[in-house]
Amino acid sequence: MKIAFIGLGRMGSGMARNLLRAGHQVTVYNRTRQKSEALAKEGAHVADSPAAACRDAEAAISMLADDRAVEEMVFGDSGIAAGLESNAVHMSSSTISTAFARMLASEHRQRGQAYLSAPVFGRPEAAEAKKLLVVSAGDPQALDRCRPLFDAISRASFVAGTEPWQANAVKLCGNFMIASMMETFGEAFALLRKSNVDPHFFLEVINALFGSPVYANYSAIIANENFQPASFGLKLGLKDIRLTLQAAEECAAPMPIASLLRDQFLSAVAHGQEEADWSSVAKVAARNAGL
Ligand code: NAP
Repeated sequence: MKIAFIGLGRMGSGMARNLLRAGHQVTVYNRTRQKSEALAKEGAHVADSPAAACRDAEAAISMLADDRAVEEMVFGDSGIAAGLESNAVHMSSSTISTAFARMLASEHRQRGQAYLSAPVFGRPEAAEAKKLLVVSAGDPQALDRCRPLFDAISRASFVAGTEPWQANAVKLCGNFMIASMMETFGEAFALLRKSNVDPHFFLEVINALFGSPVYANYSAIIANENFQPASFGLKLGLKDIRLTLQAAEECAAPMPIASLLRDQFLSAVAHGQEEADWSSVAKVAARNAGL
């Protein structure tokens, strides 16, 4: 397929590379041009604006930091909305708010364009190795058209419903669960370290108990305090907790643990951890325990 790919950060670069490997024709745009040029060496065409990347494309994929970045890249001068043909589809893989996903769906509909939300689970290493999980939602025909793209970037894909924002709700709840797990590791490790039990011993027990790669990866990162360089920045993690709380407020579903996580992430920011990996939120519990 002819694809426009907008946003070549830690996640987007690997995803775009896998689309090229699968034989798709990919035109890329990134605010910082050097990242586009790196992909040109691997067969991508480089565009000077999102609109130029979208010319003649059947689908545009965006993988940008947050609502604001997506808004600028979609509705700004020479944005995706201006460049995408009618009938073409915009697939947004960024972790954005449910409210903004509804706005994107409505704005694209008014222009005769299709819109899908297709956020992903998996860190940059998984993006590079085509091991992401894609959770998509939107018009079934548009989903069918984009299936070869999901196949090119993921090990499995799931459909959450016919309203794009439903996929964003699933993604936010997934990240809420991962953040809760990291917080519980932080608290348990603090108690164990003060009890003279080696956190690595605890890892063995916990991995035998839960048997999950997510538990295994994050517990090792936290036990080894391997927070730099960040695979997923704490600043973006805080964004996701805030978006979860917004979605919870929209449908009056109280999430007391998400409220607590927001304060733990804020405490991490206050201690200068904004650019560290989001798993470094575990340091907050350690600090609270005087460690
Ligand atoms: P990242 O490495 O920080 O990359 C962010 C991308 O957004 C870059 O291409 C950046 O362009 C662009 N961008 C930021 N602000 C912009 C603006 N105002 N205008 C235009 N472009 C802008 O982030 P990432 O880790 O790839 O994450 C991307 C999205 O995926 C986020 O929504 C994140 O929550 C989600 N996600 C991340 C992970 C993970 O483990 N990292 C996993 C799943 C989902 P520049 O290159 O010019 O800065």
